[in-house]
This record gives sequence, C-alpha cells and structure tokens, in this order.
Amino acid sequence: MGHETETFREFLARRGLRLTRQREQVLAAVLAAREHLSADDYFDRLRARGVSKSTIYRTLSLLVESGLAEGQDYGDGRVYYERMAGRDHHDHLICLGCGDLTEFRNADVEKLQDRVADEHGFELVSHTHKLFGYCARCRRERRGAAAGLAARAGTGRKKGRMRFFR
Ligand SMILES: [Zn+2]
Ligand SMILES: [Zn+2]
Repeated sequence: MGHETETFREFLARRGLRLTRQREQVLAAVLAAREHLSADDYFDRLRARGVSKSTIYRTLSLLVESGLAEGQDYGDGRVYYERMAGRDHHDHLICLGCGDLTEFRNADVEKLQDRVADEHGFELVSHTHKLFGYCARCRRERRGAAAGLAARAGTGRKKGRMRFFR
C-alpha cells in the first residue's frame, strides 16, 4: 500500500500511537470501500479478521482527524464514513425513500458559499451540504403508487443500504 499508509503512520506517530495490524486493516477497508459505510458495517466486514469493534470506532475517528476519511450523519443517527484520500470535496443528495446517497459538486454553489462567508467576515474552514428528498427512482414509484398502479409486492429495498460512490 502506498502513501496513505505512510500518512496515517506519521499522523499516529505524532500522537504517540502505532500503526498496528488492526488499525492497518481498518485503513485498508476504508480505502477499498466504494460505499458510505457505518462503523457497524466495517465491523461486519472485519470481525472475521479479529478486529474489535472498539478498534474500528477509534480508528475511524483517527482516520477522520487525519483527513484520510470523512464521517457524516445523513439523517438516521449513524455516522457513515467514506474515503477522502485521493478524492475531491463533494456534497450529497440523500433520498428519504431508499437511503440512496448521490454525490455532487457544483462550482456555483461553492462560490456562493465563499461569498456568504465573506459577507459575514467569516473565514470558511469547511462545509457540508445535505439535500434531503426523493430520488428519481423513488419519485417514479411514488407517482405509480399515487396513480394506483403500483404492485406493492416485492418492494424489498432496504433503507439506508445504497450508499455508493459514483
Ligand atoms: Zn430513492
Ligand atoms: Zn460521499
């Protein structure tokens, strides 16, 4: 593994911590994930390798502090983590129907935020935009349901599980 491992190792060293094998496994899992995943999701993925839940929670926090990952609550009370190393800043659209997370980046929105901050003499450090609503697919389903056309069978989509990167 590449420079992310070195970055994390140095970050930990500055805190008098070591990059243990368990911490390295959490790092590898976060770097490999293509979804926004909770600590419990990571526990499911790593428990077979003997990584404890507390190590996962602690390491995810450390990864966020180091800037290699970001963690956010998207409205269901859990924090979902995603890799930031090697990726650009982006914001999210959150579907209240199926839990789908869509990433977006809009230069006009970014500029407007800077202007708002300026107008308030505010030095902007970071921001998160979360736009809540219904995705195109859920809207189609809702329209179908409203028209009485929806076959209610087989709507087995699990809320909050479709948190993929694009
Ligand atoms: Zn949806
Ligand atoms: Zn994201």
